[in-house]
Amino acid sequence: MQKKISHEETDSHPPPADKINILVVEDEQHLADSIARRLLEDGYAVDIAHDGDEGFRLASTKRYHLIVLDILLPRRDGLQVLKDLRRNKVQSMVLILTAKSTIEDRVEGLRAGADDYLLKPFAFAELLARVESLLRRQGIQQRSPLRVADLELDIETRCVRRASRNIRLTAKEYFLLELLMRNKNRILTRREIAEQVWGYNFDTGTNVVDVYINYLRKAIDEGFPTRLIQTVRGVGFIMKEE
Ligand code: CA
Repeated sequence: MQKKISHEETDSHPPPADKINILVVEDEQHLADSIARRLLEDGYAVDIAHDGDEGFRLASTKRYHLIVLDILLPRRDGLQVLKDLRRNKVQSMVLILTAKSTIEDRVEGLRAGADDYLLKPFAFAELLARVESLLRRQGIQQRSPLRVADLELDIETRCVRRASRNIRLTAKEYFLLELLMRNKNRILTRREIAEQVWGYNFDTGTNVVDVYINYLRKAIDEGFPTRLIQTVRGVGFIMKEE
């Protein structure tokens, strides 16, 4: 079953001039929809297939820059899909999703022609970073740095600077900051943040979001006259320039 989601269904960022086509092959419907929505928000064109046969058929008939491919799929498993595509000279980049964490599985996936893999459960921020990195490797995507006031985040190099000061962040802090900056002037709920940075099956009963917001404030706001990260009481957080 194929599902096409148009960009108009999301209210976010404008699409880049040249649409980048991504196919998501994932049988867990909720997960497939979540991945697709996240990619659409970043301006990609996305198709979804829910089993291996459908995924193979779509990938063989339309040109995709990137295929996000689950391994455990009905009808034809992901590794077989990948081998069949490569045998048919389909050159799309492939990012494998797998719950299996053994070395042999990873090696098998890469040997079958995958370009990268991501272990389930993953955070969407990590998925997006991998997608961007693969597209960059192909020379498809060049993104300009994100800016909020005098704060700058370079997606290419992962360098963060405020005024002329370099800021060092942990991976989670970086992803949190990137999420806030991509959504500048928009309120993000704790739940949205948790799902994006920590993963789609994140336990929302913890205060980890608040803890990391505090780490991030120390890193980017402390010592500066303007505070860029603001709390919206009872809702979440927003990053904005005055
Ligand atoms: Ca699956």
